[in-house]
Amino acid sequence: MTVIGFLGLGNMGGPMAANLVKAGHTVHGYDPVAAAVDAAEQAGVAPAGSAVQAVREAEVVITMLPSGAHVLDCYREVLVEAKPGTLFLDCSTIDVAAARQAAEAAVSAGHAAIDAPVSGGVVGAQAATLTFMVGGSTDNFARAEGLLAVMGRRSVHCGDSGAGQAAKICNNLILGISMVAVGEAFVLGEKLGLSHQALFDVASTASGQCWALTTNCPVPGPVPGSPANRDYQPGFATALMLKDLGLAEAAAAETGADTALGKHTAELFRAYAADGGAGTDFSGIINAIRDRSAK
Ligand code: NAD
Repeated sequence: MTVIGFLGLGNMGGPMAANLVKAGHTVHGYDPVAAAVDAAEQAGVAPAGSAVQAVREAEVVITMLPSGAHVLDCYREVLVEAKPGTLFLDCSTIDVAAARQAAEAAVSAGHAAIDAPVSGGVVGAQAATLTFMVGGSTDNFARAEGLLAVMGRRSVHCGDSGAGQAAKICNNLILGISMVAVGEAFVLGEKLGLSHQALFDVASTASGQCWALTTNCPVPGPVPGSPANRDYQPGFATALMLKDLGLAEAAAAETGADTALGKHTAELFRAYAADGGAGTDFSGIINAIRDRSAK
């Protein structure tokens, strides 16, 4: 069994830490938000008074934080306090450059590091069905695999440091664009007098098939579990989609990749978020498309 320091016990980190406890690992957890610590404590996480206290005895440190700046700040604080050779595993979604910088800082301080962002959302974190996208050496991936298997269903080793974040950003670029495409298709179908079910029955078994349609269907009815059936409660909040599209935009600007559709999609989600959609599931963008179509 492994002694783990877990930093960031929010919507994702809380249930991930709880699953590690359930599997018999010792987890010292820290979060500046008292309510997050209390909830984790109820799930068996040992509360630490600070990030430094959480990592002191740890063999593995897992971070699940809001942004690259949070991860770098946190690493600055704790790397010097951790036992030499600790494995640092960052599961936050952050930019590739920050991920590489964080890993380099960990290695310079005598530790090992991988980036391992996730897909699967809060439901996946609770049910331990997350997919991990991992960047780092083969040895460090092997070292992390057992713990990743406790928190998720699948881990893909994507390449060297930063490759996990690159895969996450590219995947969510596809996701954002495809959700807008599916939303536009349903709204056009409505204008043409096509029922939602008819379009779903065709596209879900034809070349229009994609996750945005078959799992997160933006209209109520065809997929009973999709957020559209509960007034677009997330799910995957628009604000988080926007964060990931922003990371893709920044990466495209840095590398020169032409992601014209990604850029336009980010603009559409930005407008939807500014219009009150930030906290709703990102599939709610169909309502903005429908509103514009009514004009
Ligand atoms: P969250 O805001 O619920 O949790 C982040 C937690 O980090 C907060 O509780 C915050 O207090 C804590 N924190 C901040 N600084 C800290 C520090 N120095 N030490 C310890 N804790 C600190 O966010 P979340 O939804 O859990 O998301 C976490 C990460 O996972 C983000 O990078 C997000 O993009 C990514 N992600 C989220 C989802 C999702 O559906 N929520 C899905 C995939 C990936």
